[in-house]
Amino acid sequence: MMKECVFSGMRPTGRLHLGHLAGALSNWLKLQEEFECYYCIVDWHALMSEYMNSSAIKGYCKEILLDWLAVGLDPNKAVIFQQSHVCGHAELHLALSMIAPLGRLERNPIYKEQLENMADKDLQTYGFLGYPVLMAADILLYKATKVPVGEDQSIHLEIAKELARRFNSVFREVFPEPEILLTPTPRVPGIDGRKMSKSYNNALFISEDLNDMWDKVRTMMTDPARMKRTDPGEPEKCPVWELHKVFTLDEDKRAELAHGCRTAGIGCIDCKKVLMDWIKVKLEPIQERRRYFETHGLEMMDILREGAKKASEVASKTMDEVKSAVGFIL
Ligand code: SF4
Repeated sequence: MMKECVFSGMRPTGRLHLGHLAGALSNWLKLQEEFECYYCIVDWHALMSEYMNSSAIKGYCKEILLDWLAVGLDPNKAVIFQQSHVCGHAELHLALSMIAPLGRLERNPIYKEQLENMADKDLQTYGFLGYPVLMAADILLYKATKVPVGEDQSIHLEIAKELARRFNSVFREVFPEPEILLTPTPRVPGIDGRKMSKSYNNALFISEDLNDMWDKVRTMMTDPARMKRTDPGEPEKCPVWELHKVFTLDEDKRAELAHGCRTAGIGCIDCKKVLMDWIKVKLEPIQERRRYFETHGLEMMDILREGAKKASEVASKTMDEVKSAVGFIL
């Protein structure tokens, strides 16, 4: 039986952190066992916001690939590749841009929000407005029927569906409508209690030296009620506790820590030491695999080359159908 196709991508903007690990990457690891998965480093998407600093993108692509392989994404199970290595992405983006209603793109609330959030960059470009058109091309090129995205990206997936419908009705039926694969992702706070994000400068990185990480965890914000060691606290008001929920897999240990917090039986440093031990259990094998790939650059290049080859075979079939539907190929 044919497996359903899943497409997902990540913008190369730097090293990945524990929020990526507990969210998208854990999900992708499960999906690669079940579906025909295409995992794409979407470098053209990075260029949309980083065109003034494009020389950094190449290095970010390498960092992302290292993180992906280190956590266990497997080129024998999923197609792992870089967007710009498969020309169909740019080609289908162009075709879809011809039928993408301008008003729909301009009304996109994510577009407006990002313009405000990134006011330091000049993003008054077609490329930035057309971000969801390129994202639609990424998905439709492989006729992906399932797309694992966070709730914040669901509007973009709606636009991809609308573009698939519009293409099918203007020309002829080529694309299935992709469905969102919403998976619950745990809340992963950074060291200041806000959502973990590189741009907030509060992240713990997958590849970070574990001693450096401990220096950050030590100073991490806790329940503000615990001013002194003798003050009782409430774990549910503490960002450290959110990380325990993700990384401290022993439920009895978590119950013991919660009791210790509420009765002031333990101090926050004791609690954070336990957290750090569990993060180490998770990260040590990942970092070991990462070190392996760091010294096997040719193997990484082969993985990308092979991934691009497999992806291009599918992409060029779709583009033949597209060109035929439009009337370019008889
Ligand atoms: Fe947070 Fe742990 Fe301190 Fe309680 S003991 S406030 S859960 S760090």
